[in-house]
Amino acid sequence: MNRLKFNRGNAKLGKQIYTFSLPAGHSCPFAKECLSKAGRNGEGIQDGKHTRFRCFAASSEAQYEVVRAQRWENFELLKGLGIDAMASLIDASLPTKAKIIRIHVSGDFFSQNYFDAWLKVCERYPERVFYAYTKSVKFWVNRLGKIPENLKLNASRGGTHDSLIDSNGLKSAEVVFSHEEAKKKGMEIDHDDSHAYAKDDSFALLIHGTQPAGSEASKALSALKALGWKGYSNKRKDKRS
Ligand code: SF4
Repeated sequence: MNRLKFNRGNAKLGKQIYTFSLPAGHSCPFAKECLSKAGRNGEGIQDGKHTRFRCFAASSEAQYEVVRAQRWENFELLKGLGIDAMASLIDASLPTKAKIIRIHVSGDFFSQNYFDAWLKVCERYPERVFYAYTKSVKFWVNRLGKIPENLKLNASRGGTHDSLIDSNGLKSAEVVFSHEEAKKKGMEIDHDDSHAYAKDDSFALLIHGTQPAGSEASKALSALKALGWKGYSNKRKDKRS
């Protein structure tokens, strides 16, 4: 059986976290403000009609062929399988040492069946922690009351179904353009994903990645860099938080 590929966490996440990824944008049916896609064959990056801030995962996919290839291989292995077959494949591919697993550094729950397959896998390993950011809020809402305790979901704002976040009181994560914006919204800024897998309150993420030249996101990122913000792939933390 061909297995799915997992990775170890980067500087932001730490090596104790294992990650799983799919192609950015191509597997994100409800992405809106973040939507960007790297061409599968290295054609570069394309932003969506409503892109407000460019998906950081799409940028790394456009840059590195090996990253792109792994994500597409994962996607191809899963697409077209039923719930049980997807759950079996994920289960067989899970690294045995993984105690904390981030579902998708790149990509999202691309179908209800795929979302349900992960629920099955989480139920099989109650001693492990799984977590995800998702704009596929609709699939989550369809399973309210059936989410295993060890799956920590964070609704990622900026998708096509944001209204479901507030109407269902879901924990959420939001990209902000400044410390002031986070403060005004009463949210803490996360630096290492601990808010995503170990806390219950909604939180903010500072704008990061590579943003389109001249965009509001790009200007905000420059202002933050002037204050010492190095982005999430750098171990040095923002001096102001
Ligand atoms: S949902 Fe996530 S992976 Fe998909 S395009 Fe948006 S930021 Fe990128």
